Amino acid sequence: MSRGEQPQVVYADLHIHLGGIKMAAARDLTVENILAESAGRKGLGMVGIIDAAAPPALARLRELARAGELEELPGGGLRYRDRLTLIPGSEVEVWHPGPGSTGPFHLLVYLPGLRELEEFARWQATQVKNPCLSTQRHRASAAEVVAVAAELGGFVIPAHAFTPYKGILAAAGSVAAAIPPELWAHVPAVELGLSADTEMADRLPELQAFAYVANSDAHSLPRIAREYNALAVAAPTFRELHLALREAEGRAILAHYGLDPRLGKYHRSYCLTCDRPLEGPPPQDACPRGPGHRLVLGVLDRIHLLAAAGGEPLGTPATHQESPVTPPPAPHQAPGARRRRPPYVHQIPLAFVPGVGRRTLDRLLEAFGSEMAVLHRATREELAEVVGPVLAERIDAARRGAVAIASGAGGIYGRLVLD
Ligand SMILES: [Zn+2]
Ligand SMILES: [Zn+2]
Repeated sequence: MSRGEQPQVVYADLHIHLGGIKMAAARDLTVENILAESAGRKGLGMVGIIDAAAPPALARLRELARAGELEELPGGGLRYRDRLTLIPGSEVEVWHPGPGSTGPFHLLVYLPGLRELEEFARWQATQVKNPCLSTQRHRASAAEVVAVAAELGGFVIPAHAFTPYKGILAAAGSVAAAIPPELWAHVPAVELGLSADTEMADRLPELQAFAYVANSDAHSLPRIAREYNALAVAAPTFRELHLALREAEGRAILAHYGLDPRLGKYHRSYCLTCDRPLEGPPPQDACPRGPGHRLVLGVLDRIHLLAAAGGEPLGTPATHQESPVTPPPAPHQAPGARRRRPPYVHQIPLAFVPGVGRRTLDRLLEAFGSEMAVLHRATREELAEVVGPVLAERIDAARRGAVAIASGAGGIYGRLVLD
């Protein structure tokens, strides 16, 4: 950072959907509600709204800009009442046609401003059946999407990279198989997803070329900021975000805050035939109760399989990997050296604590201001004054990681186990 630029810490959740555009998202997930909730109870300084290129969302953003509620920043991003910066984006679904492909996957496209967003939306309308809906299947390839984003001054992050449905590593087996390394300059990070953390992802050598991000993928207001990142930037702008993800010019990611990956919905493998999760050491890639049983491969299990295969596509002949381009080394990294990663702080959202229902949650948020304050600052005695000693002890045990967790699998969240 140059002289005169004071670094500041900004908390960023870069993957939030909009109701009415993402079909599974709650109706009250409007642009205004996201901004108010994120700046208020969630304590965020930056949010990525990832359905912003849908025409109804674009129209709403235009209205808010005209009304002075949103102000376009010279460094990119839209400032909301000088409290929070909105980064507009679009989650797109692309098909991976290569050998060993298991289906489509998702990319998060981020753009600096409304003009670029509008241009992207115009292009997107020629690529999908219904541009008013979220994450529609593109006719374009991943490489084309990255090239278009780059041309508009944007960048791309593969979404929930390891999840069995719509994760790039599930579909293509490696980032390089789906996005040629010569385009990686426009792909600063991969999103870990709820079922993975830094330690797990670092088993794959290819990912040394990328930063990680932890985002909520929120489909409702309460789930905003269940995962987020702390960034050191000179200002909360699009340009500064991009620098922080690239860990360039003194900007950095300071930490990730996210679910204990065992709480994620796809942490372990699940047998659809037996309708039960597969336990035991990873990788679990076949049901012990019968050959040919249909599995949903867990994120932990997939990472172990990919790592054992050298990070290359599974089930793909070795002759397929003749990429002539060597991936560029990550910033500040000697070739072969392991990239230094910011800490990944596990947190257990209050909604996962047995006994914390909606009313209790409201009481806690009213007393302490934000979920972050409850999870990171309130003492056990202070908690007990609001929710009583039993629940206070339970919340405190969850904060300290002193709880047993049954892993999530097959689309069912993990849970805390009380003894
Ligand atoms: Zn997605
Ligand atoms: Zn089975």
